Formats: sequence, structure tokens, C-alpha cells
Amino acid sequence: MTRSLFKQHRRFNLSHWLKGHCLVCRGTSDIRGLCQACRQDLPHLASQSACPLCALPRPGESNSACPECLTKPPSFDSTHAAFLYQTPVDQWIHQLKYHGDIRLGRLMLHQSLPTFAGASRPQLLIPIPMPTFRQWRRGFNQADWIAQWLGKQLQLPVARALTYHQDSRLRQAQSNRATRLQNRQHSFALPERNQKLVSGKHIALIDDVMTTGSTLRSASKILKDCGACRVDLWIIARTAKSNGIQDKN
Ligand SMILES: [Zn+2]
Ligand SMILES: [Zn+2]
Repeated sequence: MTRSLFKQHRRFNLSHWLKGHCLVCRGTSDIRGLCQACRQDLPHLASQSACPLCALPRPGESNSACPECLTKPPSFDSTHAAFLYQTPVDQWIHQLKYHGDIRLGRLMLHQSLPTFAGASRPQLLIPIPMPTFRQWRRGFNQADWIAQWLGKQLQLPVARALTYHQDSRLRQAQSNRATRLQNRQHSFALPERNQKLVSGKHIALIDDVMTTGSTLRSASKILKDCGACRVDLWIIARTAKSNGIQDKN
């Protein structure tokens, strides 16, 4: 393609976006695919008070730690969540995870970027891993895809440092330190070859949704046990209450 043709192609794409439809209400959208009204209605978590440790929304309360974090301090140091897990963000995440809708995914990440750009800058981003079979079936790990996108935008390195295992009993028979540090409930591990990556580092763990937080607590504990000096959670959407729902990938 010649340079002039390339420019024409770019102009065509730009005009396509400019004249596009809002992905929420189908009204006239701006360049990112949202109209002004829908952009203003996005359920940003920053608009209400929340626990500074786990980002649990606490309407009507001050920004103090929630009862659970006070009685059982988490292994992570803070949580930055861009949105509440509400319409339309819950639908966007569903479309990304189960239908591979990258366009909606990028739109969502663009809207979440100010939350993470304004957070204390970590030295490394680590996505929450997914069971191998589930990742094979889905074709990708959405936490990894989010981490790669954020890393590119914020010029931060990304490492797939944690691994996920199905059968913890087999690993308990082994004797290396990484195996002993695995978590029985979620079966995360930090292989010995990756321990130097996290030692002494300020890390942000990346996931799409935080529900009970138990998955993220387990992963951050392993990183802290292996010498990470600080672990923050960077989450796209936080549920208002756990309501007994289990974390799932
Ligand atoms: Zn709209
Ligand atoms: Zn809390």
C-alpha cells in the first residue's frame, strides 16, 4: 500500500469512528464509541466511598477499611478498581470473556485507564492465571489481555509469573520452595525461575472482576511470601457485595 493510500485508509477509519454508534444506546458516538451521556453514566467506583484496602463499596460510609479488612488484614496493600460491576460494564466483561469482543474490551480499558494512571506506579504487572483447560477452551486469558494492554499504555513491564495448577496434592509431594508456597484453595504457584522477578518489587496484580477477593488474596500472599515489597490489585470492576458468589475466571 502506498503512503497516500495508507493515509486515505486511515482517514476512512477515523471517519468511521467519528460517525459511529454509541455501543450502549446506539446514539451518535464520539471517537471511542460512546456518547457523552453514556460516558457520564458509567459506574465509576471513584464516585462513591470504598474500603481503601479491598475497594468494597461502602455507600454512606467514610473511606475507612471495611470490617473484614480490619479483622483479617489482606495480604495486598491496596485495590484500585475502575468500575462497579454494574451495567454496562458487566455486559462488556461478559462479551470480552465469552465472545472475544475485543472492540468492547478496548473501549472498557480506555475508560478505566485514568484509574490506573493515577495509582502509585508499580514496577511490574502480573495477570492472574487461568486453568489451562479453561484458557484453551476460551482461547485467551482476559486478565492477561488486560495486563498486556495496560502495560503498553502505561509503559510498564508485564510478566506471566504465576502459574495455576489443578491438582495440589501432586505438587505437595515435591519439595521445592515454590511448591510449598502454593495455595491449596486456588493452587497458584510462583515457579522458582520467576522468584527473582518479584523479589523486592512493587507489583500490581491484574484481574477483570473482584468478587470475594479470595483468589487475589491467595495470589498476593504468594508474591509477598516470595519477597514482593508491595502488592496492589488493579481490577476493572468490583462487585458491591460478595453475596456468596465465588470468584471465577
Ligand atoms: Zn450512548
Ligand atoms: Zn476491605
